[in-house]
Amino acid sequence: EYTGMSKEHIMAIRNKNINPMTSKITYYKKPVFIHQGHMQWLWDMDGRRYLDLFAGVATVAVGHCHPKVTAAVEKQLKKLWHTTNIYVNAPLHEYCEKLASHLPDPLKVIYLTNSGSEANDLAMLMARIHTGNYDIITFRGSYHGGSQQTMGLTSQSSYKYPIATSSGCTHTMCPDVFRGPWGGSHCRDSPVQTIRQCSCVQGQCMANEHYIGQLKETFAASVPSRVAGFFGEPIQGMGGAVQYPKNYFKEAYKLVREKGGVCIADEVQTGFGRTGTHFWGFQGYGVLPDIVTMAKGIGNGFPMAAVVTTPEIAASFAKAYHFNTFGGNSVACAVGSAVLNAIREDGLQQNCHHVGTYLMTELAKLRDKHEIIGDVRGKGLQIGVEMVKDKASREPLGPEAMMEIFEDVKDMGVLIGKGGLYGQTFRIQPPMCITTADVDFFLAVFDKAIHNYMDRQ
Ligand code: PMP
Repeated sequence: EYTGMSKEHIMAIRNKNINPMTSKITYYKKPVFIHQGHMQWLWDMDGRRYLDLFAGVATVAVGHCHPKVTAAVEKQLKKLWHTTNIYVNAPLHEYCEKLASHLPDPLKVIYLTNSGSEANDLAMLMARIHTGNYDIITFRGSYHGGSQQTMGLTSQSSYKYPIATSSGCTHTMCPDVFRGPWGGSHCRDSPVQTIRQCSCVQGQCMANEHYIGQLKETFAASVPSRVAGFFGEPIQGMGGAVQYPKNYFKEAYKLVREKGGVCIADEVQTGFGRTGTHFWGFQGYGVLPDIVTMAKGIGNGFPMAAVVTTPEIAASFAKAYHFNTFGGNSVACAVGSAVLNAIREDGLQQNCHHVGTYLMTELAKLRDKHEIIGDVRGKGLQIGVEMVKDKASREPLGPEAMMEIFEDVKDMGVLIGKGGLYGQTFRIQPPMCITTADVDFFLAVFDKAIHNYMDRQ
């Protein structure tokens, strides 16, 4: 059952009363009118079922309307919603204890916010206050938020307005071993490697050397003195699941610290078990950040986010009073606790590893079969499939072609995402509860959509 509002009425409201940018975006040429969700499934207003492999941009972590999370919200809604944390209340403390237990020492001090942009904004401020420095570095192609501060950090021009955003943000070359100047056929921490030849010398990853060289050049060319911080998504999200050589973060963190900066892991998309082998993406690289930001999956779709840091940085930051009306409200904390319980009880981190590895391995077979699949990459259920005109040129497949395949996949009952600087990468970041049977269904649909596209050429 739905509200009874017709699709025509919905579209009229969308065009008249809703942020014009939203009304322009329907994601598909023939929009999907979503009505209901359960675990990895969504239903539209006509009762059509879709396998959701995008989870509202990697946001629905444990499943749409997961019964355990829904029950926890219902219980809390009847008890207490809000006190702005000016009084002591149990849900906040229960949640922070639980979240802290998922982070390594000394990352134990938590600031609860309401969105990823807000969390990254806070992390930028913390880095600057703690170090006394101003410059912040991140990768080209990164997405860290849409607030005026984080927009300076975000490095995809389509999300940027021509106004003054946070100054002092510098974008270094993204160590992308598929699209970048230096390939690496066995340097990614993924079950699937690139088709690009690497130039390893006696087991030493030269791609890593070159990309770290670019970071050094960024310091030399763009950072006036010492640095405040370095942001990195462990696997890029909006950038199209771009992965870096395994040792990049280790060396980059060392360089940044030598320059007086702190290291920030943006786990908005990669956290909460999504990468399979670890609970946090940074753990896959064997590094320990000074600040971790998280959003999206933290609340399974409920608006909440967090910044976690060390007691030392928190002490520097305590110079002023940091206040946030909704951050840490009782309902959000009940949701957050239930999400962490569901990840553990449903074995979702392990499921990401198992199902994600199977999916990437099978996708690599499709890559070998189809000239227009250039790269398959990722870890766990943070997966990118980069489409090209042909493998030799690696020229990105154009937006029209991408849309045709994308729409066809949807019409066959599967929702996936798109990303990358040129919109050339399909993204698969589903609720973490999908099964290998779901994967088989998707693989058949994706294969068919590519065949359909090729047949039309
Ligand atoms: N960081 C990353 C890696 C993201 O993908 C996003 C959202 N796409 C954000 C930060 C910003 O989060 P929000 O939209 O909740 O502000």
